[in-house]
Amino acid sequence: MAAPRDQLGVLEAQGSSGRQGSWGVKVAFPSDPAAPAPLCPHGPTLLFVKVIQGKEETRRFYACSACRDRKECNFFQWEDEKLSEARLAAREAHNRRCLPPLSRAQCVDRYLKFIELPLTQRKFCQRCQQLLLPGDWEKHREHEVLGDIAVSQLKRPSQLLYPLENKKTNAQYLFADRSCQFLVDLLSTLGFRRVLCVGTPRLHELIRLTASGDKKSNIKSLLLDIDFRYSQFYLEDSFCHYNMFNHHFFDGKAALEVCRAFLQEDKGEGVIMVTDPPFGGLVEPLAVTFKKLIAMWKEGQSQGDKELPIFWIFPYFFESRICQFFPSFSMLDYQVDYDNHALYKHGKTGRKQSPVRIFTNIPPSKIILPTEEGYRFCPLCQRYVSSENQHCEHCNSCSSKDGRKWNHCFLCKKCVKPSWTHCSTCDHCTVPDHSCEGPKDGCYICGELDHKRSNCPNIPASRRANKAVRKQKQRKSNKMKMETTKGQSMNHTSVTTRKKRRERTHQYLCS
Ligand code: SAH
Ligand code: ZN
Ligand code: ZN
Ligand code: ZN
Ligand code: ZN
Repeated sequence: MAAPRDQLGVLEAQGSSGRQGSWGVKVAFPSDPAAPAPLCPHGPTLLFVKVIQGKEETRRFYACSACRDRKECNFFQWEDEKLSEARLAAREAHNRRCLPPLSRAQCVDRYLKFIELPLTQRKFCQRCQQLLLPGDWEKHREHEVLGDIAVSQLKRPSQLLYPLENKKTNAQYLFADRSCQFLVDLLSTLGFRRVLCVGTPRLHELIRLTASGDKKSNIKSLLLDIDFRYSQFYLEDSFCHYNMFNHHFFDGKAALEVCRAFLQEDKGEGVIMVTDPPFGGLVEPLAVTFKKLIAMWKEGQSQGDKELPIFWIFPYFFESRICQFFPSFSMLDYQVDYDNHALYKHGKTGRKQSPVRIFTNIPPSKIILPTEEGYRFCPLCQRYVSSENQHCEHCNSCSSKDGRKWNHCFLCKKCVKPSWTHCSTCDHCTVPDHSCEGPKDGCYICGELDHKRSNCPNIPASRRANKAVRKQKQRKSNKMKMETTKGQSMNHTSVTTRKKRRERTHQYLCS
């Protein structure tokens, strides 16, 4: 049996493909809205329900909002489950152990000390992903350590740190230079003075670099990200350790106030939110979070009818899902390129098509796409489109979503991918070599028909809840054993100090 959370994307993508009958997991609303969700190290958990063949199972469960891999957070609790005091205490202890090894204030303090050091004493441990002060050197003596860390390197932490791309939780896909530069130029052309960067560390640093290098463009940026490593490089007013799946600020009220002040500065004028969430994540909890950030911005508004400008960067096949939550959004044709994503980065020869787009509530006519990259203005659509995206007179739009020329199907009454043909059994256009039963031929992860799981542009969400269920059962049978070991329940007491340390580093990196 496949695990429910493996299927996160399937359910989401059905919105865009309109196919039914598959199964997956979806976010549910608690029976008792007043009951607070249990906490995992990543803040309040979310309530999920498994859906099979369109039907919701009755028993719902809480799981981590942020981690799609139970190796990173194995929180699991049935909605109706009552935990013993001992288990609750063990959980609290576990949550505390998962806190980052340094407080936010300590990080800032260390950073200030670090920049005072002469160049020759500025070291960075690659193994621990940490800036070292002289007092730390001994501990990292046997690690690979970079020396002579220049100010220019400190200003580009996304190049110093390795991207957490194997970590499903973080799934860090960094913008290629030209996409990042395009975004910065666009933000400045549109006249924004403040950018709330939610999960966009590389954009954040480029904005700050541009601002310090050029007096004319003085855009401020605040980064909200779950990757705690970034807190070594920024003061409190430019980085908050944050979970965008549950709007959780790891450093509590002080951090929330930093964010609020940033959004509400100048009565909320001149600010935009730019976000590039991990694609394996669910759209709904993201939408809930973004609405909370919008509400925070609105509190500071004098007149009530304006919208907070937003760029939400996400694959095109989530269009209908995003527009369901944000009807005023439209999808731009610009293809966002990444540095470290095998599938999205354009090759040396010509460009590989990236499926990632910008969704925005800014009128598309205001957004000029670079003609040198082959975009052109369509006067009928009043927007910039890919050069091969031709205006279809039947659809009355430049109908391609993926940058290739699409063909109009009169039976489907819409344009379809060039490789598709109309199947009279399925009664819609699809890939020619399919078995007429629907999604099982498509991608296991996202449900799209034109690729298999191995090529899925979604970050493969992994086995989770079912394993968690299994683990839960296993845990129950171990429980007696555990709880009799006084004061050590739920703690893996047998692990060696070394292993513990490694786990701690791991947690530090992933929290
Ligand atoms: N293209 C962007 C990076 C996007 S990768 C850039 O180049 O700036 C996704 C980012 O979201 C990563 O920085 C990752 O650390 C962050 N992230 C992942 N899960 C998150 C969560 N639950 N809350 C907040 N940020 C998260
Ligand atoms: Zn968690
Ligand atoms: Zn080290
Ligand atoms: Zn058409
Ligand atoms: Zn058709």
